[in-house]
Amino acid sequence: MREQDRSALHGDLDALILGGGPAGATAAAVLAAKGRNVLVVERERFPRYKVGESLLPYCYFPLERIGMVDRLRASSFVKKYSVQFAAMDGRISTPFYFFQHFDHAASQTWQVVRSEFDQMMLDNAVEKGARVLMGATAKRLLMNGGRCEGLMVEQGGETFPIRAPVTLDCGGRHGFAATELGWVVPDPWLNKVAIWTYYKGALRDAGHDEGATTVAYLPGKGWFWYIPLPEDTVSVGVVAERDYLYREGKDLEAIFDREALANRWIAEHLAPGARCQPIRITAEYSYRSRYCAGDGLVLAGDAFTFLDPVFSSGVLLALLGGERAAHAVDAAVEAGDFRAGRFASYGADLCEGIEAMRKLVYAFYEEAFSFGKLLKSRPDLQGDLTDCLIGNLAKDFRPLFEAVGKFATVPEPLPYGSSVAQAMTPALAGRS
Ligand SMILES: Cc1cc2nc3c(=O)[nH]c(=O)nc-3n(C[C@H](O)[C@H](O)[C@H](O)COP(=O)(O)OP(=O)(O)OC[C@H]3O[C@@H](n4cnc5c(N)ncnc54)[C@H](O)[C@@H]3O)c2cc1C
Repeated sequence: MREQDRSALHGDLDALILGGGPAGATAAAVLAAKGRNVLVVERERFPRYKVGESLLPYCYFPLERIGMVDRLRASSFVKKYSVQFAAMDGRISTPFYFFQHFDHAASQTWQVVRSEFDQMMLDNAVEKGARVLMGATAKRLLMNGGRCEGLMVEQGGETFPIRAPVTLDCGGRHGFAATELGWVVPDPWLNKVAIWTYYKGALRDAGHDEGATTVAYLPGKGWFWYIPLPEDTVSVGVVAERDYLYREGKDLEAIFDREALANRWIAEHLAPGARCQPIRITAEYSYRSRYCAGDGLVLAGDAFTFLDPVFSSGVLLALLGGERAAHAVDAAVEAGDFRAGRFASYGADLCEGIEAMRKLVYAFYEEAFSFGKLLKSRPDLQGDLTDCLIGNLAKDFRPLFEAVGKFATVPEPLPYGSSVAQAMTPALAGRS
């Protein structure tokens, strides 16, 4: 393979972004809007398939700040007003209507087709001046004396370095930099399997409920998501413990069909429909990177942390992470200082919000916990609970989690992720 330095092709970069998903596209849009010279390297050629279709209401605010809301309003994405929970016998909870909680345009959000949404996000960044190298795969970090100086990239059979004073890893759940640097720390308890597919012609509820996300329960705190999408399509998937799902074998179709029959609401809603895509599977263990940044390196989105998707928090955390990382990087460019310490407050702020979501996820999986029980004993906490569920994470949730603690073990915050690497893995130092 020929190696040549393509940095020259892109001018003197201010920042290099690995991955053009929601985190990378947001970071690119923010930096480009500030006049920074930014390049995104994206392995796929968009539009490409991606799971993770249900947005939280608080996605509105970062989306508004990068100029995406009008595009979303003009799109055919299904409007989402609520989330609801379905018991195994088919009984449905009173929906959490976001507009009953706050009177703001954000109280209506969207169920998006990720191939289209991610394309729109990247187009938006390009319109602001970001450049994108599609079909370009980052192979490894370029390290020099413990500092990241860019990426070794492969595109069209050629491998070449791209250098920049700071690299943002927004490469998603494979944790590109965190894996290479040995920073991945699994959350041992949140280690589930997801099996999902798409149906056409399945039932939708009426009126405001048409675009609701439904979380439908299975034994042992397994659950289904049911997300209505455009063109009469529904995204439907089951998340549960590996042993539970594989108890009769590993045939994915058989597992999906068996579990779909186990929840009456899901069975009834899928009955008139037909499967229109293959069944997909992922082991979706939650993890967090030990550090949010090193010298010349910042992690954002799933590349920094992945949390069980039960409350649809992934895209919100990717948008917020991409945006906040970009502001920290912009300040670093201004100062000409890309040392890890500059990014510590970025990690600390982000981890606070992530911890609120994580506590709620832990509670959800505890046998003794239910929202119904919690609110029966503490109706005054309805507002706090809804805030957490809609992604209003900049809030003091101590009263909520003190009350949750009466029904479920509330985990301590993870003691890492908010800090920065003092010195990156010596084995990598000097490799360039
Ligand atoms: C089963 C499941 C269900 C989910 N449901 C929801 C949901 O309903 N709502 C929600 O908000 N979230 C959901 N999520 C989470 C959501 O999918 C992610 O949190 C979100 O996509 C993260 O965005 P990101 O930009 O960090 O990463 P990604 O969206 O993964 O984007 C990363 C990009 O980096 C590129 N890339 C990766 N490696 C390289 C490389 N080496 N070189 C170049 N490019 C590279 C990839 O091609 C990709 O385009 C779900 C996740 C799972 C697993």
